[in-house]
This record gives sequence, structure tokens and C-alpha cells, in this order.
Amino acid sequence: MKKENKVILAVAAGAALLFGSIVLLNKWQVNISLNGEKEIHLEYGDSYEEPGAEAVFTGSILRLFHKDLEVKTDGQPDTQKLGTYTVTYSAANGRYSAEETRTVIVEDTTPPEITLVSDPDGYTLYGHTYEEEGYSASDSCDGDLTDKVTREEKDGKVIYTVKDASGNSAEKERTIVYDDRTGPEISLAGGDYVTVYTGSSFDEGYSASDDCDGDVTGSVSVSGTVDTNTPGDYVLTYEVSDAHGNVSSMQRTVHVENMPVNVPTIQEGGNVIYLTFDDGPGPYTDALLDILDRYNVKATFFTTSAYPGYAYCMARAAAAGHTVAVHSATHDYGYIYSSTDNYWSDFNTQNAVIAAQTGSYSNLFRFPGGSSNTVSMSYCSGIMTTLAQQAASYGYIYFDWNVSSGDAGATTDTNQVYANVIGGIAANSAYGTPSVVLQHDVKAYSVNAVESIIQWGLQNGYSFQALSAGSYTSHHGINN
Ligand SMILES: [Zn+2]
Repeated sequence: MKKENKVILAVAAGAALLFGSIVLLNKWQVNISLNGEKEIHLEYGDSYEEPGAEAVFTGSILRLFHKDLEVKTDGQPDTQKLGTYTVTYSAANGRYSAEETRTVIVEDTTPPEITLVSDPDGYTLYGHTYEEEGYSASDSCDGDLTDKVTREEKDGKVIYTVKDASGNSAEKERTIVYDDRTGPEISLAGGDYVTVYTGSSFDEGYSASDDCDGDVTGSVSVSGTVDTNTPGDYVLTYEVSDAHGNVSSMQRTVHVENMPVNVPTIQEGGNVIYLTFDDGPGPYTDALLDILDRYNVKATFFTTSAYPGYAYCMARAAAAGHTVAVHSATHDYGYIYSSTDNYWSDFNTQNAVIAAQTGSYSNLFRFPGGSSNTVSMSYCSGIMTTLAQQAASYGYIYFDWNVSSGDAGATTDTNQVYANVIGGIAANSAYGTPSVVLQHDVKAYSVNAVESIIQWGLQNGYSFQALSAGSYTSHHGINN
């Protein structure tokens, strides 16, 4: 063998040995490599896009040999549910296979969102607590968290905080706008239009209060004047400002007019009122006479001697033009209705008192209990019929009434007396009938209603007159 051949043979043998060794050492395997990260963090609600993986079949040494393999993917993260998901990638080539995993973590790292409701024109009064205008909180993962919001008012701010289930917290701050844009409220006692009669005083008050400053009545300035002696309209201006410069003002008109005065010379009809007062004079008669004088109202007093100390009121009443007439000296039914003699004896006793006070006897009277009374029956049957006939023959005229004030027992309330009287007058007036009103000047609550009754009457076109011999008698009718 030639030397060259020996060399070739030796090299070949060596190469074969080397190749054989390589083949023996080489390991066949499937290799999977992930696209993207091995661990992926996904925010709740985001979409998961599968990055995929690559797989090859290759040798550990004989790397030049490789074959691409198809990768099977298992597992799909649910991004609508927090959690840790595993995605499995596998590939195989004959008896060779491999598996690789990827971890996908769906998490919530987004804090909730707090939304505040706020009126751009709204404000909080200085020194007052902020009145919550509203807020809400929502979280991409937990939904509505409004109920979980805590709020704290401090140093002119409101701090709202809320935490979601994953521990993400949010905070929002509201700066409270403090202001005062409204002036004090002025209130006028008696209203913004007041009527005053000449000669009386105007003394209606006022007050002012401010939402911040409280009672500011003392700071109110009043401009304008009222002359209560001269009829006319007077305007008063009330002005006040609060500590923050808000000014309020109000005006009031004071209407001064002459006191309405009774015109007594009117022809008798539905607009005539005869005020009559029984059982006095007594402790309230002077005050009553003062009221009647003020309005030039003439009335009729059916007098008794129940309060002899006030007999002088008869003189005063007569001098003022009122009618002073007979009721009864004793007002004792058991006595006066036992016999006609008793009746006229009692009558004459009272008429003598009247004559002593006024200078003349009266031929006008009112039966105690009225002409229709039946109480007299228990003392003397038929006595009312006889007395009425005798009265006529003596030239005496008796009067009953057609408006009862109720002051003899039905009511002790001044307002009710007033209501009864004006109601009764209006009802008579509707029929064109004059009103003969029965009140008792020995009852304070009844006397106290008289001024209002007069004012109502004058304002409604009535005329007040005293009874006289030709006046409407308003007879009830005799029952005994
Ligand atoms: Zn009486």
C-alpha cells in the first residue's frame, strides 16, 4: 500500500470515529420558545392578546438540523375576573415532545374614581357647615362604591376618600366656597300698608334678621316721617345691611285718614243700627261711653240699679245724646212678674233714678227677659199681655231686639260677640230691616267688642242711632 493511501485511510477512520461519537452524543429534542414575557400582568378589563410561541425539533449538537413544529396552546385568561392564569404551550414530533407555560396575572391597580356634584353658583354661608351637594364613586372592577366613601370636612375643605377591594385608594378634595350674598330679611309688623286714623299714634314695629348675623333689628335705619294729624299717604323706608355688605330695604305706606264718624241723621232702614245695652250702668259703662263719643255713635241704655255707684253714667250718657231708658230697678223676675203693681212699682223706682240723673223721665223701656219671656208664667199667668196693654195706655213704648250678641250666656268671648253682632246685622240688612242689637254693658268682654263693631259698621255704610219714640221696636211677640 502506498504511503498516501495509508494516510487517507487513517483520516477516514478518524472522521468516521468522530462522526460516530457525535451521533452518539447528540440528543434529539423539541424546543419551545415563548414569544413575549414568561409572566404577563394584565389590568382588569383589558384584552389579552395571545403572543404565542415557537417550537422546533432539533438536536442538541446537530443543530443545523431543525424542523419547525406546530404549537398547541391551552388556557385563555379571563380578563373580567381577577386571578392568576396559566397558559400551556405544547409541541411534539414523534416520541419527542415538550411543554412550556406562561403565567398571566389579571389584576386591578386602577383606583376608583370620585365624582363631585357642585353647583357653580352655590356657596356656604360663613360660619356654617357645608351642605353636601352630592358625590359618587365608581371603580372599573368593583362598580359603584359611593356607599364606601368617607368624607371629612376640615379647614374649609371636604376630603372624600374611598378604597376598592384590591386596596387601591382614591381621594378627592372639595374647596368650600364661603360667601354671603343675601341681605337681612326685614319684617314689618302690621304689613307694608297700614291705615291710621288722625289723632292716633303710628307705632307699628319692625324687625330684621340675617342668615349670618342673626338679629340686626338694631341696625335698621328708617327714613321718612308720618304726620298722623294730617290725612295722606306717607312712605317709610327701612334699610339695613349685614356684615358682608348686603343691603336690604323695604317700604311701607302709612295711610292716615280721618276717623270715620257716625252720621246719625239717616232715615231708618236696613242700614240703621241701634246699639242697646242692658243691665247697667256698671263698671264698664264709662269706657263704653268714651268709645261711643270717639265715633259720634249714639246708643240706648236700658238701665237698672244693680250698681248704684255708677248711676252718674246715666247723666253722662244723656248729656252725650244717648237714650237712657228703663229696664228694671231690681231685675228680679220673681218680684216684678208676680203682679202688675210690683212691675210698675219697680219701673217707677228706676224711672225716678233716671229723672234724678238726667232731669227727665223716660217713656221707653225694655222688659227684663224681653216681651216674649215665658219665665213670667211661673209667677203670674197672662201678666205680659196685661203689662203690654197697660204700657200702651200709659204712653210707654217697649223695645225687644233682633240681634243677640250672645253675651248673656252663650259666649264670653269678645271675638264671638263681635261675630254674632255683625252677622246678625248683615242678615237683617239683607231684608232691609234695621238692627236692634242686644248687649250688656256690665260684661267687659262684650263692651270690648263695641269699637270693632262700630268700625265695621262705619266701613260698611251703616249709621248708628239711639232709639226714640218712633223707632223700630223689633217686638218678639207676647207668649204669656
Ligand atoms: Zn236684663
